[in-house]
Amino acid sequence: MWHPVVKFLIMKIKAIGLVSGGLDSIIATCLMLEQGIEVIPVMFVSPFFHSEYMKEKEIDFMGLKAKIIRVGDDYLSLVKNPEFGYGAGMNPCIDCKIYMVKKGAEIMAKEKASFIFTGEVLDQRPFSQRQKFFDIIEKKSGMEGKILRPLSALLLKPTIPEIEKIVNREKLLAISGRSRKQQLLIAQEKGIKTYLPPAGGCLLTDRIYAGKIKELFEKRQQCDLDDAELIKHGRVFWYNSILIVIGRNECENKIILNLTKKNDVSLVIKNVPSPLCIIRGNEINNEVIEYAKEKVLTYTKQEKLKKVPSLLWEIKKTLAPYEEKY
Ligand code: SF4
Repeated sequence: MWHPVVKFLIMKIKAIGLVSGGLDSIIATCLMLEQGIEVIPVMFVSPFFHSEYMKEKEIDFMGLKAKIIRVGDDYLSLVKNPEFGYGAGMNPCIDCKIYMVKKGAEIMAKEKASFIFTGEVLDQRPFSQRQKFFDIIEKKSGMEGKILRPLSALLLKPTIPEIEKIVNREKLLAISGRSRKQQLLIAQEKGIKTYLPPAGGCLLTDRIYAGKIKELFEKRQQCDLDDAELIKHGRVFWYNSILIVIGRNECENKIILNLTKKNDVSLVIKNVPSPLCIIRGNEINNEVIEYAKEKVLTYTKQEKLKKVPSLLWEIKKTLAPYEEKY
């Protein structure tokens, strides 16, 4: 077996970076690259975060090709029933991080990388970025000692790559807490100008969306990521367990139309400009249709309705084969 130092000299050390595109993950990546470590960035996408990259396989991250991992319905199950509970909204941060680290570990094995690193900062968030939660995440993901947090490393116990000296601990940082002062100074020093907002704008932390997803879980036991995506747009109504979404403008009408899948019913008034309505669920009967029509009429300009002697409704069932979107 090679001595770690010899190993470092003869082969490039690879690390998997779980990145969000936020400043912290950019600084963490810089710190690794400056140590000559080959970084494979990995970014997770879902209807809740980074959904703009949903169709990509990889994206540019600091000039590196970041792998895109689309979370599956297993992630949604975890949002429904998190072992470690929620943060302020419906964000199951600890379970989410365990999920991401496990996926990262799979890539680590495939790429023969030595460890995973993240841009997490000790005590930056009360839920999930405390030492005890770091320990839980490592233990539950089976990655004890293999998750390096370069921004706070000097405040944490040394990880295996530091002990084996494939990472120089002395060049790591001791940042903690919510203040972003140090990170902003580092960004200035390193000329980092573009980065995403902290937490990557995770919708699960958003009070309004959290309410919608909670309702989705209550009303529709068998919901999936397509439903989680659909309720992001338009006005959302429920008729028992039937989901009804009405576009608020032309742009939303197009978005929700694009999100329809097999057996969804779309409803629109043909002879008056009106919002588009998508109905999803089992047993969409006449009662549901009448309820949805009322809602559409509510959001159609009354003066336009008065101009026509009778309304011409277009009600269509989506017949296209179900296309797996996530
Ligand atoms: S904020 Fe969202 S993406 Fe970030 S750890 Fe929590 S649940 Fe996961």
